[in-house]
Amino acid sequence: MTARTETTRFAPSPSGHLHLGHAFSGLFSERAARQAGGRFLLRVEDIDSTRCRPTFTQEMIEDLEWLGLRWDAPPLAQSTRGEAYRQALHRLTDMGLLYPCFCTRADIRAEIVGAAAAPHGPDGPLYPGLCRELSSRERAKRRKAGVPYALRLDVRKAQRLAGPLTWQDRGKGEMTAQPEIFGDVVLARKDIGTSYHLAVTLDDAFQEITLVTRGEDLFQATHVHRLLQALLELPVPQWHHHGLIEDEQGQRLAKRHGALALRQLRLQGKSAQAVRAMAGWED
Ligand code: GLU
Repeated sequence: MTARTETTRFAPSPSGHLHLGHAFSGLFSERAARQAGGRFLLRVEDIDSTRCRPTFTQEMIEDLEWLGLRWDAPPLAQSTRGEAYRQALHRLTDMGLLYPCFCTRADIRAEIVGAAAAPHGPDGPLYPGLCRELSSRERAKRRKAGVPYALRLDVRKAQRLAGPLTWQDRGKGEMTAQPEIFGDVVLARKDIGTSYHLAVTLDDAFQEITLVTRGEDLFQATHVHRLLQALLELPVPQWHHHGLIEDEQGQRLAKRHGALALRQLRLQGKSAQAVRAMAGWED
């Protein structure tokens, strides 16, 4: 068997301008590919039509090219991948692993406030399971009435099916997958019909990614991605979660800190090399 060509990707969301943290992450991903004599790909994570804008995509690509990144195939936009996401949702539904969740945020909040103990996960309180046990009759009734719904993964059932799972992190070593820390995650949002977890997992497989590089703020998400790979029989990459760069106050950089946008720095006349250095990058 021949080893697969090391393939990495940088997968920003065009919901604002890229900042120094993105610069570091993109450079980290490209270098991992180059050092292995492999391929580096760009993916535009634009599933969230409520937040992403085509102008941001255009500007993002310009900024990354200016910074010096070169990808080895045309960028893949998640907005073109709806059919693949729908097929995977059908498959998981046929496996009996998804259920429609009709809850509003207010329903969930009310249930959590009334509960004696509300377990928390990386994204806040876990879904208390209100819709998990609805009868098929009740589900059909609500669907017919046009009540909007999300699709959630029954994580315990999914784990029973998949069995114990591990994954390799190049920084932290072998990890045991613990997707239950997120509870019954949403795999198809009410508003966009898919989710970050589903789209990323499917697209990493579609782009034949062998090494997923990203910031350690997304470390926990890997537990869910590993489970989805097992359920959907997808190839399993390795991961390398890198540290995040912070501002002088020790705050994690975010898109809202417009002053540190690559675009802004570029318009101020900074060179790409200077901006790479500001992102803590050693050329
Ligand atoms: N699109 C995600 C973000 O911009 C990153 C996805 C990933 O690398 O898995 O935060």
